[in-house]
Amino acid sequence: MPDSRSASTLAPTEIVQRREVRTAIPGPVSQDHHARRQRAVSSGFGIVLPVFVERMGGGIIVDVDGNHLIDLASGIAVTSVGASAPDVVRRVQEQVARFTHTCFMVTEYDGFVQVCEKLNELTPGDHDKRTALFSTGAEAIENAIKIARVATGRTAVVTFGHAYHGRTLLTMTMTAKNAPYKDGFGPFAPEVYRAPLPYPYRWGADPQACAEQAYAELEDLVLKQIGARHTAAIVIEPIQGEGGFIVPPPGFLRSVQDLANAHGIVLVVDEIQTGLARTGRMFACEYDEVVPDLITTAKALGGGLPLAAVTGRAELMDAVHAGGLGGTYAGNPLACAAALGVFETIERDNLVARAVAIGERIRGHLDPLLGQVAAVGEVRGRGAMQAIEFVVPGSKEPDAQAAATVSAACHREGVLTLTCGTYGNVIRMLPPLVTGDELIDDAMGVLVTACRGL
Ligand SMILES: *Cc1c(COP(=O)(O)O)cnc(C)c1O
Repeated sequence: MPDSRSASTLAPTEIVQRREVRTAIPGPVSQDHHARRQRAVSSGFGIVLPVFVERMGGGIIVDVDGNHLIDLASGIAVTSVGASAPDVVRRVQEQVARFTHTCFMVTEYDGFVQVCEKLNELTPGDHDKRTALFSTGAEAIENAIKIARVATGRTAVVTFGHAYHGRTLLTMTMTAKNAPYKDGFGPFAPEVYRAPLPYPYRWGADPQACAEQAYAELEDLVLKQIGARHTAAIVIEPIQGEGGFIVPPPGFLRSVQDLANAHGIVLVVDEIQTGLARTGRMFACEYDEVVPDLITTAKALGGGLPLAAVTGRAELMDAVHAGGLGGTYAGNPLACAAALGVFETIERDNLVARAVAIGERIRGHLDPLLGQVAAVGEVRGRGAMQAIEFVVPGSKEPDAQAAATVSAACHREGVLTLTCGTYGNVIRMLPPLVTGDELIDDAMGVLVTACRGL
C-alpha cells in the first residue's frame, strides 16, 4: 500500500521501496520548474531526464509530482551507499554543527587524516602509501599527473581510446570523445598521447588476440613514438565508464602495469567510477590483480558530497614540494565526514558482496536478450556496473537511436536509466548498492520489455 504520509514527512530510509507512476514523467510540477531552469541556467548543462527531485532513499527517487522512480543511475555512480545513507547523514550533521571549513592547508582536522588512512588501507598493494584529498574527480586526475611529472621528471601522459577523465583542460584533453566534451573547447593541453583500448566486441577478435594487438600498439607508442624516458604516466580506467562500460580482456591491465614498471612510468588507475565496491570488488583493478602506483577515487567516495583522492606509493606522493598540492576546499570536513560514513556502510552492510549479487541478478534478466533481441549486441559489465550495447540488427553498426528509444520507454515507466559510449548506443546500469532485489527485478522487467519492443 502506498504510504499515506506525504513524501516530505518521510526520512529517506522510510521511503517506500516501490515504483509508482502517478503522473506523466516529467509531471506538471517538474515541467514548470524545468521551464524556469531554461530561463535561469546555462544551456551548456545537458539533462538526462527533466524531473525535479523531492527526496531519495534506498533505490528510489521521489519527484516533486509524487512519482517513485527506480534509480539505476546513482547520480552517475555517486550514491552507491544510497542517497542520504543514515551513517553519512549522522556524521555530516555532527560535523556541520562543529565547523564547516578550515582549509586543511591552514589548520588541520582529524577527519581528513582518517579518510587518508582508510584509503591507504583499502587500496590494492601493501606498500607504504600516502593520500591527497581534493574535491572532484577531474582534480584528482590533474593532481595525479602533477605528482607523476614531478616524481619522474618526465612530461608525456598516455591515455586510451574511449577514455573519460573529466572536463578541465587537461582531463578533457585526456578524454577521447569529442562531442560533447571537447567540441570547440581547444586548444588542448600538450603532451597527451592516446593508445587504442582493446574493445573485444567491436574489434571482433577473440579477447586474447585483442589484448595482444592493443598491447603491441601501446608498447610501440611508448617505446618508439614518445620514448619511455619522456613518459611520466599511463592512465587507464579498469572498466571504462562514459566510454561504454568496456571491460578490457583478461591480462591486458597486467601487461600495461608490466610495461609501466619496466620503464619507470607511473601507472595511474582511474577508479573514479569503478571504485568503492561498485564492481563487486572494493576496486575493479583487483579483478586483474593490478597494483597501481597511483589510484584516483571520487564519485562514491563522498557519498554525494564532493570528495576525491589520489592514493599511491609514498615515494611518489612525497616527491612533491610542500605547497605544491592543495586547494581551498580540498578534503572539506563535511565531505570527509561523509566518506567515513561511506566506508562504515560499505563494510558493515557488506556492499562489495551485494554488488556481486546485484550484478548476477541483472545478468539473469538481461543475458537471455542476447540472441532473442537482434538489436542487443552485447551485455557486459562487472558487479553493479552493467550495460547493454545496441546495434543495427544483423550488424555491429552502433544504434544510438535504439538506446535512446529504450531509455525513453524506461523513463516513461519510472525507471531512471543512463546512456553512454563513444557511439551513444549503450545503456548503463549503476543502481545504489542498497537497492533491494524486488526493485532490481521490477526495473529489469521494464527494461527487458522495452528491449523486446524495439
Ligand atoms: C566522472 C569521472 C571523472 C571525473 O570526475 P568529476 O568529479 O566529474 O570531475 C574522471 N574519471 C572517471 C573514470 C569518471 O567516471
